[in-house]
This record gives sequence, structure tokens and C-alpha cells, in this order.
Amino acid sequence: MIRINENYLKLKASYLFADISRRVNAFQQANPDKKVIRLGIGDVTEPLSQAVVSAFHQGVEEMAGAGTFRGYGPEQGYDFLRELIAKEDFQSRGADISADEIFVSDGAKCDTGNIQELFAGDIRIAIPDPVYPVYVDTNVMAGRTGVNVDGRYEGLVYLDGTRDNGFIPELPGEPVDLIYLCYPNNPTGATITKAQLKKWVDYARENKALILFDAAYEAFIRDPELPKSIYEIEGAREVAIEFRSLSKTAGFTGTRLAFTVVPKACMAYDAQGNEHSLHAMWNRRHTTKFNGVSYPVQKAAAAVYSPEGKAQATALVDNYLNNAAIIRKEMTALGFDCVGGENSPYVWIDGKMGSWDFFDMLLSKAAVVCTPGAGFGTCGEGYIRISAFNSLANVQEAMERLRSVLK
Ligand code: PLP
Repeated sequence: MIRINENYLKLKASYLFADISRRVNAFQQANPDKKVIRLGIGDVTEPLSQAVVSAFHQGVEEMAGAGTFRGYGPEQGYDFLRELIAKEDFQSRGADISADEIFVSDGAKCDTGNIQELFAGDIRIAIPDPVYPVYVDTNVMAGRTGVNVDGRYEGLVYLDGTRDNGFIPELPGEPVDLIYLCYPNNPTGATITKAQLKKWVDYARENKALILFDAAYEAFIRDPELPKSIYEIEGAREVAIEFRSLSKTAGFTGTRLAFTVVPKACMAYDAQGNEHSLHAMWNRRHTTKFNGVSYPVQKAAAAVYSPEGKAQATALVDNYLNNAAIIRKEMTALGFDCVGGENSPYVWIDGKMGSWDFFDMLLSKAAVVCTPGAGFGTCGEGYIRISAFNSLANVQEAMERLRSVLK
């Protein structure tokens, strides 16, 4: 008899985006002439830049020529791309990361979800609340939690993000082995300073713990004082793995390219306390279960690091940042407390009522879609997330509607 992994039965069905789309569809059916503006999902709306598109084409042309065709590439990514990433994203900021510590993949979702395979079943895991749900659900699937009670899984150590701590959780009050951090944060848009991040690095070093640092939104950081990479913090090479993605950086959500940085100095321990290289383990995992990102996509990704590619990616992100600034300014003027929207595409708004009530009000009265904060964890109740991923015209129109409804 084929039996299931019963840990899947513990998963709280994720009704969030299904629920949103059900409510939006019902509204649209009842109001066919109303134009719904979607500021709910975290997907980009603007097309790939010219530099990326021409490199992409060139890659496809090479695949069409007998002399330039390529089959399987290196699982970890082509050297031309790994070298660019190491130099442009890390060494240029004083972070000591080399090309062979970069593992190119098809998504930070897969990487942040798959990395937990490297760790023991009984480690203690600290997870922020509110949070990008992938970190929690993949550990539930792997059997590292008990059941869900009132929105929280037994066995996890939740790190509360609140208005009082500015959505930068305090260090855990009990020992933990694995810590998930994401800055700029999804969903709150909060950013972390070097001094704040240093506390986590020091904690990890003192406790032989490991930090999984999700920097999928680093491209939105414009404040030169804020760290884009955890490796800008002294001592992080030994205790942190970093996840990056071109999804939001360069509009690659539909093209797919991300990478994970596993420094060679990063160690974890067996039951006897012997050290093991996480770089070697991730390399083993990656080469066993992944066969590389397609050559044209890696060519396109390399173009993001060319002078024109950089300028065009910056312009794309600038558009979204401009939208975020407008959303933050308008919502603040309407009397709402906002986090994020600076150095981040997300604005996290204290709705002063239930998350879903606020969602329903915006939809029914303004035909604007946001994301209810409660969908990201119990600490998200009472908040909504408004995303800057849309055109300027749509954001302006949405804000005009909100002004007339919320005034
Ligand atoms: N990490 C965070 C925090 C995200 O918000 C997202 C996407 O929304 C991802 C990772 C996924 O990135 P990718 O498109 O590379 O899978």
C-alpha cells in the first residue's frame, strides 16, 4: 500500500491567495464595469529590459547553431555568470564571496524551501511572524513541527514582528539552531540596519546556529547605510547562507533565475559535534537534484550586470520605489501608520480593523485589491500589505480612489 507523508496533513490550507481571488472574482461579476486595480500580489508588471532581451535572443541564437549549441551546463551555473555575481553583488561591497560559492538556480522559492533538507529533523527553528510562508511550510512538510494550533505550528519558535519592534524581532528567548531572516522584508517592507543584523550574526556565532538570509528584495535598498548582503557583516561567512533572486531585481519572475550563496567557511555539526561543510553538502544536493538553469536565461541574467543592464534594472526598480513612496505618503496622509515603502516595494499598513475587513472595504468601495496581513501570520492581523508592483497610472488611480473612500 502506497502511504503518504502525513506531515502534509498538518499543513494549514493556504486560503490566502485563493480567498483573495474568489472575493475579487465575485466582486467583478457583480460589478462588470468597475476596473479592479490589483495591488495585492508580489509579481512584477513591467517587461524585461532591452539589455536582457537582446542577450536572451543571443543565447537562443547560439542554441540554434551547430557550433554554438550547448547541452547540459554546470549544475551550479556557468562561470561567466557566477563570476559576475561574485564581483558585482558581493566583492564590490566589501563582502568576501567567491564565484564558486554561488549556486545558480531557478528560484529563491525553491532554494529557501529546499535548503532545510541539509539539517537534522530535531533542530530548533526560529521563524519570524509575519513571514513569507515558504519557510514554515517546507519545515512542516519535512516533519519538524507538530500540529497547527490557532495559526501557529507546535515546535517552532516564532519571532514576533510588531509595531513596537519595528518588525525587527528580538533575539529568541530560548536556544535555536536555525534562524530565517528576510530583509527588506516580505510582507512588512521593514529593513534591517548593520548594527541590528550584527546582533543576529553574533548570536549565531555564539550558539553555533545558522542564519538563512533571504535578500530577494535587496535591489530596492537605496539607503547607502543599509546592508544589501549579510556578508557585509563581520563574521557572517561562517554562520549565514544568503538567497538572492533576479525576480524583483530585474523582472525575472516569469524568466526564472536566482542564486544561493553558501560560503565555504559555513559549517554545521553531526550528532557527535564534528564539523561538516554546508558548501559541500549543498553542492551535493544541487548536483543530485538540479540540472542547471537554461543557457539563454543565464545569458540574459549576465546582461543584468552589464553597464546598460544595470542602468535599466535600476530604472525598473526606481519605478516601483516611486510607486511605493506614493502609496506610503498617501496612506500616511490619510492617518494610517505605515512601515516599509522605503527601500522596499511593500507598504505594511495598520488598518485599525481586521485585515479581511479592511480588504473587503477597499475592494467593495474602491475596487482596489490589497493583501490581508493575517495571511502572513498571527502578528499580521490588523494589517494590510499594499504592493508597489503596478504601473504609475494604476497606483495613482488607486490612491485617488482610496482618498475618496478613506477620508
Ligand atoms: N523570497 C521572498 C521573500 C519572496 O517574497 C519571494 C517571492 O515573492 C521569493 C523569495 C521567491 O523568489 P523567486 O521568484 O526567485 O522564486
